[in-house]
Amino acid sequence: MNRRLLLKRIGNLSVVSSLLPFINIHNSNAKSPGRVVILGAGWGGLSAAKTIKKISPEVEVIIIDQNRQFTSCPMSNWVIGQLKTMEDITFSFDNLKNKYYIKFIHEKAINIDSGKKVIKTDGQEISYDKLILSPGVELDYSFIENWNENSIGHFPSAWKAGYETKLLSDNIKNLPNGGVVAISIPLGPYRCPPGPYERASLIASYLKKHKKNTKLIILDSNQKIISKGALFKEAWDEFYSDIIEYRSNSGVVGIDNSNKNFITDFDDIKCDVANLIPPQRAPKLLKATGLINKGSNWAAVNPYDFSSTIAEDIFIIGDSTSQSNVGRVPKSGYIANSMGKVCALAVIAELYDLEKVSPSLINTCYSLVSSKEGISVSAVYDYNKEENKIKSIPGATGLSPNRSSIIKANAWDWATNIWEDMLG
Ligand SMILES: Cc1cc2nc3c(=O)[nH]c(=O)nc-3n(C[C@H](O)[C@H](O)[C@H](O)COP(=O)(O)OP(=O)(O)OC[C@H]3O[C@@H](n4cnc5c(N)ncnc54)[C@H](O)[C@@H]3O)c2cc1C
Repeated sequence: MNRRLLLKRIGNLSVVSSLLPFINIHNSNAKSPGRVVILGAGWGGLSAAKTIKKISPEVEVIIIDQNRQFTSCPMSNWVIGQLKTMEDITFSFDNLKNKYYIKFIHEKAINIDSGKKVIKTDGQEISYDKLILSPGVELDYSFIENWNENSIGHFPSAWKAGYETKLLSDNIKNLPNGGVVAISIPLGPYRCPPGPYERASLIASYLKKHKKNTKLIILDSNQKIISKGALFKEAWDEFYSDIIEYRSNSGVVGIDNSNKNFITDFDDIKCDVANLIPPQRAPKLLKATGLINKGSNWAAVNPYDFSSTIAEDIFIIGDSTSQSNVGRVPKSGYIANSMGKVCALAVIAELYDLEKVSPSLINTCYSLVSSKEGISVSAVYDYNKEENKIKSIPGATGLSPNRSSIIKANAWDWATNIWEDMLG
């Protein structure tokens, strides 16, 4: 591919057109492209795959994910709050397969040999020239006493969208009048900092309208609401003071499977519907491959291009990455999507021997505080060379001054657009 063709393709690519001014191609004698294998058909992986194929269709792109369809975590709280259905947040990979010729292997990856450049699934071995890992988070139940796999039935997390989202949504719908719901929130960092508080708001909003004399107890391991605190608090005080009981510094440390109780350091909480969101870390596969530094729970990456600091030809994006390397960006779908694009450009640059683009990322996080109104926080980030970190650009961050129905509409529009961006 020559310089003119590459520039034309990047120019045609609206999703990265903001990066166009930074593109600086030194070597027009591009190497032949190779095979890029991507682990994870989620927010980071899909964004990287589609970006590569849009710019450089010659590159072979293979995605490994055991899931046969995409179910969105963003907007899954709307399902739990009975505003949307599972069908509204579930999509096929058909466009990526048929329009972009991205190959999918629906198997579980079990091993990576970074020396031989091979990733192994439970069915086969796949070699790669570049490997992009976006496997999200692993839920870490080792801190929860008495936890076993059967506990999911009464204590779903619904922190990976799918079966548990539906289970929790049904449990809320079937809650009897006079019943108690309890949500347990882990210490940060975890995926989607405002997510548990939005979930609490939407459950409370549903209970207020449809169930009599019900309670929602929020057991937060953190000292306070860790995202958009004042705006959530204001809405809770105004709408749900008779429903929500918020307890800070009160994380769940165990469960009583027989009596269906949450156990905290202070007391046992009996609840008809429980939502246990456990602590999180990067998946064990990354640890086993040596991609996580000792003492850390998250993968070590260079913030400029999301290449591993440890293994060659491996890139890691999304929730699995360490904030102490990347900088203070939230573990969000929007950030994973941005990282996917930055990383895709870096991979193409390496395959074609081009100069890499200085990264720019964006995040807007919408949360509903009721079935009618939302709040939001936004930031634009770029790379700070002195600190070797991704940093928010001064003046380019902002919290919505108050809640509004317009923000609720914006939230759904945002989701519709970004789903199209990844899957359309
Ligand atoms: C309730 C909730 C609400 C949220 N709301 C928002 C929001 O409004 N806005 C926002 O920006 N973000 C939101 N998020 C956060 C967002 O979902 C995550 O930050 C995002 O999914 C991270 O993308 P990722 O690519 O790192 O991981 P994921 O999207 O989780 O993708 C990981 C993929 O890897 C696959 N995988 C993992 N290991 C293997 C393996 N060994 N073999 C095969 N496949 C594997 C998984 O099946 C999965 O499909 C929310 C999250 C939750 C839980």
